[in-house]
Amino acid sequence: MANLHREVTASHVCVLTFDRPDSVANIFDEATFAELNAHLDFLASPEAREIKGVIFCSAKPKIFLAGADLIGFTKDPSMEKLERLIETGQQTFRRITMLPVPSVAAIHGLALGGGCEITLACDYRVASTSRETKIGLPEVQIGILPGWGGSTILPRLIGLPRALEVILGNKQLAAVPALKAGLVDAVGPRESLRELAEKQVIRGKRGSLPPQLMNLPPAAAFIARQARANVLAKTGGHYPAPLKALEVVIAALRGTVEQGFALEKKAFAELATGDVARHLIGIFLLQERSKKTRLPADLIAPAEAPRKIERVAVVGAGVMGAGIAQWLAARGTSVLLKDIAAEPLAIGMQSIRKLFRDGVQRRRFTGTEARAALDRIVPVAGDVPLRRVDLVIEAAVERLDLKQQIFRGLEAATAADVALATNTSALSIDAIAGALPDPSRVVGIHFFNPVHRMQLVEIVRGDRTSALALETALRFVKGIGKLPVIVRDRPGFLVNRILTPYLSEAGRLFQEGYAVADIDNALERFGMPMGPLRLIDEVGLDVGRHVATDLAARLTTPQGRPVPAMDEMIARKWFGKKSGQGFYVHAGKGKPTLNADVERLPGVAARRPADAKLFLDRLILPMINEAARVLEENVVEAPEDVDFGMIMGSGWAPFRGGPLRYADSLGAAKIVADLESLAGRFGESFRPSARLQSMAAGGRRFYP
Ligand code: NAD
Repeated sequence: MANLHREVTASHVCVLTFDRPDSVANIFDEATFAELNAHLDFLASPEAREIKGVIFCSAKPKIFLAGADLIGFTKDPSMEKLERLIETGQQTFRRITMLPVPSVAAIHGLALGGGCEITLACDYRVASTSRETKIGLPEVQIGILPGWGGSTILPRLIGLPRALEVILGNKQLAAVPALKAGLVDAVGPRESLRELAEKQVIRGKRGSLPPQLMNLPPAAAFIARQARANVLAKTGGHYPAPLKALEVVIAALRGTVEQGFALEKKAFAELATGDVARHLIGIFLLQERSKKTRLPADLIAPAEAPRKIERVAVVGAGVMGAGIAQWLAARGTSVLLKDIAAEPLAIGMQSIRKLFRDGVQRRRFTGTEARAALDRIVPVAGDVPLRRVDLVIEAAVERLDLKQQIFRGLEAATAADVALATNTSALSIDAIAGALPDPSRVVGIHFFNPVHRMQLVEIVRGDRTSALALETALRFVKGIGKLPVIVRDRPGFLVNRILTPYLSEAGRLFQEGYAVADIDNALERFGMPMGPLRLIDEVGLDVGRHVATDLAARLTTPQGRPVPAMDEMIARKWFGKKSGQGFYVHAGKGKPTLNADVERLPGVAARRPADAKLFLDRLILPMINEAARVLEENVVEAPEDVDFGMIMGSGWAPFRGGPLRYADSLGAAKIVADLESLAGRFGESFRPSARLQSMAAGGRRFYP
């Protein structure tokens, strides 16, 4: 099956259209390169004497070319294979540049990575002004660098400062900004793209590019120093790709294009065979895996097809309910937003309006789209008929008796095949469903806060949840562009279960006299997006305590000692971000500052010097221990689910590949020995789980 179609127009222009069969995306795999080279052979043959120019375009509605085939790439990441892959791309694209006739890329949709680099090889680029069109080089985000000419050519085309924004900063340009930057030569509506491209053909081969002032040695050296400092500040030095990419970009400016290509190839192979790229590409593949999540194998697929979800009732217009309603409405779903009174509804609608305003400002939607979406939300206080809704998501306050009462009402008010979902963070799905005549309709759809930023959604399967309710939830979550992980109805589900011992232990360290800044800095240096005490402030101390108490009551494993200093904070209403102070003072938009009073609270021991090794042992090892239990209890099916959930749900150091990949790098024997020693010093909560012990004894890993 062909990935690329050729057509020669009456005016002797050869149009090559990428159209990968059975896929929404075009990508560069070996077959596509082979076809492209065959077409280039044709263009070099006597048959093509009459051809006046070549246009590259895509038949896909949203994607021009999405880049290299990452799946094929990870199957055999040997040095030899990687070098061949780079050479193939570089040589093929070089052939396009060297064609005797002009070449034009007609870009509609995403042109990313290799998809951008093929356009850089062309004489001209034209782009559609559709929202789908974005041009960028995101390679650094997955631990590699643009290796098919991007690192060498982009700075020559648009100048070093802009090129670095694209290569290091993952800036993706829409048509108009790309035109302003000099990345494309003309823009217009999608329908006129072909015509625009043909006009470029008439211009003939492009001469050499005009020199860029900022690429000259003194300016370039200055820009490079600044960029390097920015990268180090942002990544803490954990990510080698941006530094390497910067090095290659700067060195490539000093030599010929061929020399630049050689540098790209060497750097690419070095990065791509390293652990960080392996983990970052792994996360990308886990996202793809999540999009393909199916019903667990022990369930029989439902006989009836799940409803198409067009109308959703969201119960509770608080932080989560409002966030969920906004996300759904923005994706075309009608929402009935229910609360008990006018006041909480008004507050909810206010925060929804703010989300839309911010979205318009960030150009995620136009003003018209935002208004249309807002109109899809109908706020209602009190009881209204729910006969026409296709799904209910309950996000009322976290109290079992209240939720049970709400679900009794929902069961009676909705059609019998409508799934009833709860967004509970910690309560048992089975307990919520327990009071109903038909508990099989209840399922957990657990969004994370803030809903518009967090892609992960835990779909919680209660013991009695039906295949139909689960399948409905699964399709719904995928349909709204979130990434599902199916979890069993065990306390804390997946992410909160593993985070809780971590956060509680951080509170204990604080109480023992270790400085808030020392604890948080150590974990940030490890690679967490923020330290644990700062995270507690984000979650809310009251909410955190509620989850921890609930888990402690329902889990049989030994729990850590209580943290009275944090109870004192709650008594003083120092809940964290939402109340303005917690471990930090949260004022306005800036970075929160340390709350100086917190270390003087009664119960907090005298100041001790920082001990980063101890912090990591006491905070990271319990997470690994809990993750092992999560697998033991079949909360999720595979170690991949744990790592995916923790990275997407809590930002767990992505370059380490997640807690279980990290555990494998330490080895079960060392983890067990360290946990035993911690248990001796700090209590039974550190005792290694049965699974870790048997792994240590058998020399096994989480990932075979
Ligand atoms: P919230 O306190 O901000 O909002 C709860 C809303 O529910 C309030 O507006 C309240 O008036 C309303 N409500 C109470 N009883 C109701 C009833 N009978 N019918 C309709 N509405 C009713 O709470 P939240 O933070 O949005 O949390 C909601 C749910 O989501 C909880 O179960 C919570 O555990 C879960 N959750 C919260 C977070 C988070 O970070 N806040 C994250 C994930 C899940």
